Amino acid sequence: MTIRNRYTYVGLFLWVIGMCFAAHPIKAQSVTPVPLKMERGTGFFQLLDDTPYETNLRGKDARWLARTLRSLPVRLIPAEQADASPRLTLRLTDASAVLSSPESYTLSVTPEHIRVEASSVSGLFYGVQSLGQLVTPAGTGFTVPAVEVEDTPRFAYRGFMLDVSRHFFPKAFVKKQIDALARYKINRLHLHLTDAAGWRIEIKKYPRLTDLAAWRSGANWKSWWNGDRRYLPEGSEGAFGGYYTREDIRELVDYARERCITIVPEIEMPSHSEEVLAAYPELSCSGEPYKNADFCVGNERTFTFLENVLTEVMQLFPSEYIHIGGDEAGMSAWKTCPKCQKRIRDEHLDGVEGLQSYLIHRIEKFLNRHGRHLLGWDEILKGGLAPHATVMSWRGEEGGLAAIRSGHRAVMTPGSHCYFDGYQDAPSTQPEAIGGYLPLQKVYAYNPVPATLTSQQARLVDGVQANLWTEYIPTPEHVEYMMYPRILALAEVAWSAPECKSWPDFHRRALHEVDWLRAAGYHPFDLSKEVGPRPASLQPVDHLARGKKVHYNAPYNLSYRAAGDGSLTDGLQGDWTYSDGRWQGFISKDRLDVTVDLEQPTDIHTVSASFLQVAGPDVFLPGSVTISVSDDGIHFTPLLQRTAAVSKQLAVQYQDITWHGSARGRFVRYQAKADPAVSGWIFTDEIIIR
Ligand SMILES: [Zn+2]
Repeated sequence: MTIRNRYTYVGLFLWVIGMCFAAHPIKAQSVTPVPLKMERGTGFFQLLDDTPYETNLRGKDARWLARTLRSLPVRLIPAEQADASPRLTLRLTDASAVLSSPESYTLSVTPEHIRVEASSVSGLFYGVQSLGQLVTPAGTGFTVPAVEVEDTPRFAYRGFMLDVSRHFFPKAFVKKQIDALARYKINRLHLHLTDAAGWRIEIKKYPRLTDLAAWRSGANWKSWWNGDRRYLPEGSEGAFGGYYTREDIRELVDYARERCITIVPEIEMPSHSEEVLAAYPELSCSGEPYKNADFCVGNERTFTFLENVLTEVMQLFPSEYIHIGGDEAGMSAWKTCPKCQKRIRDEHLDGVEGLQSYLIHRIEKFLNRHGRHLLGWDEILKGGLAPHATVMSWRGEEGGLAAIRSGHRAVMTPGSHCYFDGYQDAPSTQPEAIGGYLPLQKVYAYNPVPATLTSQQARLVDGVQANLWTEYIPTPEHVEYMMYPRILALAEVAWSAPECKSWPDFHRRALHEVDWLRAAGYHPFDLSKEVGPRPASLQPVDHLARGKKVHYNAPYNLSYRAAGDGSLTDGLQGDWTYSDGRWQGFISKDRLDVTVDLEQPTDIHTVSASFLQVAGPDVFLPGSVTISVSDDGIHFTPLLQRTAAVSKQLAVQYQDITWHGSARGRFVRYQAKADPAVSGWIFTDEIIIR
């Protein structure tokens, strides 16, 4: 990150450069996300029960502050109730020219006094959060190290998304997460409230959404999704699910607002709506339940429904952003539906993508009329982006960049760095996840402002968000395990200036925070036991085939091409995930079938390749492997022929399939076919010949 960029989009001045916390570390206790400036003074403030404080907040703001201060481990009392002069001051001040964000704050601790100042209550709130992290038990009381902090966020939008559809999580659990998110200065909680797996919010006008669409025939998403995918009436035998009542939502919104968090509701459209169309089949193209995932966009009743739902949603959620999903529409029923086709003709739309765009534009106008702003997954770019929409970029950064180049705002949330449903450590040591490998360090390394953006464009990056999809996460404890400590890394990406970040320093703080979280009743991943990357991926492997030409008798898939034709002999082995750019994917009938040309007759003693299985996305070990050798590249002599049944039940597995022996030849052919009973992908990363 350059100085110029930071000056531009955070609105800071050059004088702050070099004043980062990293230059003045406080070893014992510190603040996450790391503040812009933090300098250690001399001595400690003794924090005791009944320490008197003063504030210039009045009325409900003063009462809010009193509640906020209860997060500290001692009881503070207003100075006017104490028979002593105040030792803690929390003041609203005029906006600072330097710390221009209203979320900025300063915190000054001396042995005599603590002072927190900000130009808004959210700034004061964040000052108190930093103070709370500096408080250390000492004897029978607590101390706070003398320190001077000046702090401001990098991004206005610092988000976490929880999918409460695939598995429903109760109100109390959501509040508990809000407490921790606030501690790390996350300020948006995006709730994925609707999806095929269950509708999770009471809508007065459409009771069947919660009488039926919120309940399904299996508690666990995986078995339900692979099973009958039925919805059942609330209260009937074998019905699992749940939803938030309007009262629950109000309570959550208020609870979050007290902690400076805005809840962003997401109502999926036009797809991911099987549950709605089971309850109200007249809104689908077929008119029948269990047939479609997409709303019928040709039907005016769809718009009546969506606008009625959004009206109630806007009554409950004050959020500027209303998220309308927009992702992964199949659109197939639209191609033959008379109503959809009529709409395409009448509105002169460009096919079904134009139809999706028509819906998004119309919904955007509706939201704008009510003073709200449309936010959607990057598929809302299809067929042309609505005029004021903000894009949440999840399929990489391209969607966000496309939006920004056309003058729209974007929230960056690429799967590569922000999808917390992937494994956070060596998969064999972890509970089953959807796949992928996203360790803490990779989250931490993310920069939401790609270098290709101009400083002007960089201002349109509204922020960054982590997403926790819960297909494979059935319990509250498991949610916490996937969230923590990775959300701390995301918080530092979102809040801290890039120049202030330091991985070793963050890692030390994260270990400390994992202990804190555990003591506070959370269930974080035990970072101290992290295994780390796949050892084979850490350094290149040298062998006889390295750099030699590979002939593909069957093609690799272009979506998983790794480094292309040279990938299997480049000496680079993959990490724990098949999507890391080193594993090459094969899905053609013959799967893997390659011939390596060693250029001259060569004595060979081992031929080896690694394979992995990630059953969730249908990546499997091979059912049969043939390794053979040839002098002319035409007539091959088999060295190894091996067949083994593949078990779909193994979520994750790694296997090297190797021939050992003595042979001579110029060409080595490696074939790996799928087990006929288990049809899926085969991935390998290197053909190693010695
Ligand atoms: Zn239709």
